[in-house]
This record gives sequence, structure tokens and C-alpha cells, in this order.
Amino acid sequence: MTGRIFLKLITAATALLLLVAASVDFFTTEITRESYIDNLRQQLSEKARMLALSLPLDRESSPQLVRGLAEAAGGRVTLVATSGKVLADSDADAARMENHRSRPELIQAFHGKVGWSERLSATLGIPFLYVAVPVSGGAIRIAVPLSEINRQVHEIRFKILASTALAFLPALLLAALLARILSRRFTEITSYAAQLARGNFRARLKRPPSREFGMLAETLNDTAGNLQHTVEQLEREHAELEKLERVRKDFVINVSHELRTPLASIQGYTETLIDGAINDPAHNMRFLSIIRHNAERLARLTEDLLTLSRVEQKRQKFEFEMHFVNDLLRDALELVQPMAEKREVQLKLDPAPEDATVWCDSEAVSQVLSNLLDNAIKYTPAGGTITVGGSPQGQFMEIFVRDTGIGIPPEDVPRLFERFYRVDKARSRELGGTGLGLSIVKHLVAAHDGTTRVESRVNHGTTFFFTLPQDEPVAGHSLNPEFTAS
Ligand code: ADP
Repeated sequence: MTGRIFLKLITAATALLLLVAASVDFFTTEITRESYIDNLRQQLSEKARMLALSLPLDRESSPQLVRGLAEAAGGRVTLVATSGKVLADSDADAARMENHRSRPELIQAFHGKVGWSERLSATLGIPFLYVAVPVSGGAIRIAVPLSEINRQVHEIRFKILASTALAFLPALLLAALLARILSRRFTEITSYAAQLARGNFRARLKRPPSREFGMLAETLNDTAGNLQHTVEQLEREHAELEKLERVRKDFVINVSHELRTPLASIQGYTETLIDGAINDPAHNMRFLSIIRHNAERLARLTEDLLTLSRVEQKRQKFEFEMHFVNDLLRDALELVQPMAEKREVQLKLDPAPEDATVWCDSEAVSQVLSNLLDNAIKYTPAGGTITVGGSPQGQFMEIFVRDTGIGIPPEDVPRLFERFYRVDKARSRELGGTGLGLSIVKHLVAAHDGTTRVESRVNHGTTFFFTLPQDEPVAGHSLNPEFTAS
């Protein structure tokens, strides 16, 4: 993977460098050649003009003189008449040479200008640069072979290419280094993306120093963070749903179990009575009272279940009003007074400030207090005391029900408000409990934006606390937003 990316990058860099080298080669060759030829043309035209001064154009121009001048000028010299006839030539026999009328450089010279041309010599068969200047009666032409120029251009070209290659070498090395770094970064990022694809959202990419890769790494890390957050949230929701499902199943099992026992008892005793026990005065009344006891238990259970489901599903209608706390407490005490007397338990009021009020549904608070007082009386032995009171706590009024009863073991306290949770099942049933009283308390209090808590010491007593708002809450604003009933 790294190798492939590296190879691609280095190939691209080399191709780019070769392209640059080729264009540099092309332009420098062209420019150098042109400037050489231009220079040579200037020199030759000056030499030709000098020769025109010293070499009169007549038929007597001896080949020796022309050859001598050609040697001095460093080129081939040709004298041509206006007719195109070659009068003398330093390198060939003039008499054998063809008519030069159509030579481009000579056409221009015959028109009075300096003429030039670059081509293969018809006589010698090699490339030449020809420069011709006009003289009276014809033209003098001087020519040099271009092979020398080509050689020099090649030499310069070689030098330029060599120095370009030399200059490119570090560039190529740098490109290789860069390609290596880039390919490594790409590999890191692709392997990180593969990790994300496999679902590992906890992994994080180290931020590379370069800006672009840094931003990419940051974006990928952010994406991973968001995905991790979403996955964790989904996992939490899934766990919550599983918990709810477990609670629902437990609830169904508990309800059927709670219903089955009294129903079985009613069925059994009814059948016994029908089978003849109805006529047995020694037993019939006892059996009937057992049937009544179980029917009452069923009635209490269904009543509690209905209340709980209404409150839990927020179908319970509340009528919130301002109430004096002490009035609510006194009413509740009055209701349970007969039961307390029967069990020889003393009831006391620890009054809240006389003008203290709470914003509540009095029926609901009455049910909360009666459930708590019922329990307190049930779980306090004869001779004990139950105190009810209230004290303001910020925006709330905290109401308590304290008893001097059997207390609750610390390990049971956290689960006390769960549906059907009892510390001692048999004792609860014997005392006519449904196991739903505290759960109803918790939900009714929560419907008032309040909270519930308990303090207890085994064999010393228990205190239940719950809060109610002292004032009407501002519309749409919960006084206790963190509380959610479960
Ligand atoms: P129950 O109908 O069984 O009383 P509750 O939900 O009212 O159901 O109470 C749950 C359990 O909490 C009871 O079974 C009992 O074990 C314990 N409990 C409640 N109140 C008291 C209390 N004042 N003293 C001791 N135990 C208590």
C-alpha cells in the first residue's frame, strides 16, 4: 500500500521534472542556435562587406586570391555575377559550378540587400550558412559550414541538460522524501478509516503537523467521536429498554402471583362450603371469613394497581391548590387514629409553621400520608410513637412520618420504592399489605415535582420524607427537573 502510493507520487514527480527538462531543452536549444546563427550572420556580412572592398568583381579574380581571402575570412568565398554565373570560388572550380541565379541569398543581394540562407550545399553536400552582399556587377558570398554551430549548440545543450539534471537531483530527492511522508500519512489515514469501518470508534488519529492532514485527522476524529457518542447513547437506550422489559415481565409475574394466592384460597374454601361444609356450624363461619379476607385483599390489590397505573401513565387527574400543611397533616392523623388506638401506638404532630402552605392535590397528599402512616402503624410495635411534621426546605416543604418501629435493613432501603418489594413478604401479607404502597407514594410525590427518601435504623425506627412545592410553579417550569419517576 505504502509502496504503491509512494510509486505513484514519485512517478508523477519524475514525469513533471522530465516535462520541465524537455521544455527547457527545447527552448534553450532553439534560442542558443538562433542567437549563434544571428551572430554568425552579422560577422559574415561584415566580412563579406570587407571582402567587397578589397576584391573587385571582375573575371580576372584569380582562384588563388579568392582562396587566400577565404582562408583569412575563415569561410568559403564565392564571387557571382548578376547573371548568376559563378566567377570564382575558394573551394571549387568555378567553371564547373552551376548557375547560382536562383540561390535565395543571392536573389536578395542582387536586389541590393544583404541576403542569407541556411541549407545543404549542392556542391559539398553539407549544411552551410550563406551570406551574400551586393557589389557592382554581382555579389560576394561567404559561407561557413553549420556543423560547427551544431556541435557548439549540442555542447551547450548538453551542459544545460547536465546542470538541469544536477539541479533536479535534489528536487527529485525532495520529491521522493515528500512522497514518502505523504504516502505514510495516507496509509495512516486509510488504516484509521478501516478501523472506523470495523466499528472501532474509540481509536483516535494522532494529529500530523501539516495543516491539510491535520484538518483531515481532526475531522475524522470528530466523526469518530460523534459516532462513538451515538453508539454509546444507543447502547444506553438499549440497556434501558432491556431493563424496562425485565421490569415489565417481573411486574406481570408479580401481579399474577399476587392474584393467584387469594383467588386459590377463595376457590378452595368456596368448594369446601359447597361440598357440605356450609352445613357445618363449627367451620362455615371461619371459612366465610377467610373468603371475605381474601376478597378484601384482592380488592385492595386491584385498587392499588389501578391507582399506580393511572399515576404512572399520567392519567390521574390532579386538582392543584394551595393548602395549609398542618391542615393536611391533622386530617391524615385523624383518619388513622382508630387504627393507631387499636394497635396501641401513639400519634403526634410536630407542626410546620402555622401559615406554611403547599401547592398540591389534597386527595393525593392524603393518600401519600395514609400509606406512610399505615406502614408506620403496621411496623411499629404497641407502645411506640409515630410523629408527623413538616419543615420548609428552600422552595419546598419537607414532610416526614417518623416511627419508633422495627426499622429497615440498609440493604433493603434502595429497593424499597420498587413495585412489590417487601422486606418481609410473609409479614407484609399477614398485615394486609400489597407491596405497592411506597411505589404509589413515590409516583404521587413525583407528580408534584417532589422527591422521596427514607432514613432507618433496625429496631430503632424509620423516617420517610417527601417534598412538596410551597408555591405554585411557574407555567411550564418544573421545580425539580432532575426527577423522573420510574
Ligand atoms: P406493603 O404493602 O408491604 O406495606 P409498601 O410498598 O407500603 O408495601 O412497603 C414496602 C415494604 O417496605 C414493606 O413490605 C415493609 O417491609 C417496608 N416498610 C414500609 N414502611 C415501613 C416502616 N415504616 N417500617 C418498617 N418497614 C417498612
